[in-house]
Amino acid sequence: MKAQLLIIAAPSGAGKNTFINRLIQERPDRFVHSISYTTRNMREGELDGNPYYFLTEEDFRSKMADNFFAEWAEVHGNLYGTGRAQLEKHWADNRWVVMDVDVKGAENLKKEYPEAVSVFILPPSIETLRHRLSARKGKTDDLELRLANAVDEMLRAPDFDHQITNDNFDQAYAEFDKIIDNLLK
Ligand code: 5GP
Repeated sequence: MKAQLLIIAAPSGAGKNTFINRLIQERPDRFVHSISYTTRNMREGELDGNPYYFLTEEDFRSKMADNFFAEWAEVHGNLYGTGRAQLEKHWADNRWVVMDVDVKGAENLKKEYPEAVSVFILPPSIETLRHRLSARKGKTDDLELRLANAVDEMLRAPDFDHQITNDNFDQAYAEFDKIIDNLLK
């Protein structure tokens, strides 16, 4: 299959980043992580360009007006968006662009790029999610909001091409890896 978009969505705390990091580590020649732009505050240990490019709301809106973003969405009260130019550049190198977006972002990207492949990662339960989220440093401020959003997002899982439940990570990753093998055929 020609390199396209691999959209991965999950409520925060479902372990999405572990999947993405492993995929990119194992197959760096074929997969690259797109770096989004956001207006949210930088967390401890983050830098501009890792894991996001951080913008003021004014700069973000000005880029929106210039049609700079392939998609953008408001998530947990902040703006997030994907730059168009970045996608084109990676496709020219025949690399799949891995998109880590919320469900609205996934929907918008599918509309704009119908050939994109989408995967939804589910936590084994809401209780597990609560536990994982409260164990995260610097994230407890909006725990209840993230949990409420998680429930809404999980109801949209059937709209995705593939659904994976991340109970046992190795098993879940093996399932994910099969999907990836098929993309590269
Ligand atoms: P966090 O702030 O915890 O890193 O991410 C919050 C949410 O924003 C996650 O659900 C993530 O998938 C989503 N997100 C990150 N980048 C983008 C983007 O470029 N577009 C959209 N629509 N959502 C994004």
